Amino acid sequence: MLKIGVLLGDDIGLEVVPEAVKCMKAAAALVGMQAEWIELPIGKKGHEAHGNTLPTITQETLKTCDGWICGPIGHNAYPRNDPTWVMPPIRKKFELYANIKPVKSYPNLPSIHKDVDIVFLRETTEGMMSSTLVVAGAGEFRPNDEISIGMRVVTRKGANRLAREAFEIARTRKKKILTCVHKEPVYRLVCGMFAEEHRKLQKEYPDVTLNEVLVDGMAMKLVMKPQQFDVISTTNQFGDILTDEGAGLVGGLGLAPGLVAGDTQAMAQATHGSAPDIAGQNIANPYAMIMSGKMLLEWLGRKRQNESATAASKIIEVAMEKVIAEKFHLTGDLGGKASTTEMGDAVVAAMKKP
Ligand code: ATP
Repeated sequence: MLKIGVLLGDDIGLEVVPEAVKCMKAAAALVGMQAEWIELPIGKKGHEAHGNTLPTITQETLKTCDGWICGPIGHNAYPRNDPTWVMPPIRKKFELYANIKPVKSYPNLPSIHKDVDIVFLRETTEGMMSSTLVVAGAGEFRPNDEISIGMRVVTRKGANRLAREAFEIARTRKKKILTCVHKEPVYRLVCGMFAEEHRKLQKEYPDVTLNEVLVDGMAMKLVMKPQQFDVISTTNQFGDILTDEGAGLVGGLGLAPGLVAGDTQAMAQATHGSAPDIAGQNIANPYAMIMSGKMLLEWLGRKRQNESATAASKIIEVAMEKVIAEKFHLTGDLGGKASTTEMGDAVVAAMKKP
């Protein structure tokens, strides 16, 4: 039996996460997927109940979970200079290193490009994001007022595990093309190591075609012809930028789901923030959170060889495609009039037993 944590997060998280869980449970019931669902406090509610945005009870219980779904955290509104009011350091604590972000266009939703179906993998534990990497000292410093210096870290372990996850995902797809994005001619050692680990692993995945593209060229190619790409893997900072560009190609934040995976656990989390401007009105688009939940089931299916989880994820995907194609139950940002709950209900109603 799978054990799945449910962390609502803040603001619209309280509205969109329940829709995602509703869809996951409905799909699970159709295929007989056994799961225990455990709601845990995080963010503002965690602080109110336990004095911390990532309470000990939540951390300890998550250790026993196969995976969890987590809503956005409204950290921008948290009091400053108080270490108990911080963005919960959940990725770091659970070593969730691969941020997996699919970018997919739908024929009847407005987007810059059609026929886009890309999965991005962004490394999230090293690279250039010094503020989140350093446990002591600082990743950047200013020796005098004229100079600022920042660091970038790439390890063989970090590059290898991200590359392996990218090959594994590429292997499950139709095109089976993995594009490693870097800038080795300039960053010979750091980007070089990232690329080397991909080249080494290629031998273990002869069914996957490995290409390499420099990051500046990739930024242009994505705008001009994104249909040529299948799976894209890259380092932390490059990925931060390219995944937003990717979301922009197909309609923006409301359509950007995500999963952050480690070796043995994964967290479903949409790209969008907690959107306090529209919270509490039942108008937020639940697409990204529902599809993030779908990604968690897909990942659990693959990692735990759990066929019913794979089948449940497929059910959600097909039902969502139907709801979008019919256009009757879309939220305002997608050009419809449905509420958050109505769109979630429509996805459940569109589900079919395989
Ligand atoms: P953060 O810094 O917390 O990541 P952000 O600056 O990225 O937040 P969001 O909270 O994602 O900002 O909101 C950006 C805009 O997108 C807001 O106008 C918000 O209402 C809108 N938005 C975000 N998510 C959704 C959603 N699920 N449905 C509809 N609109 C959304």
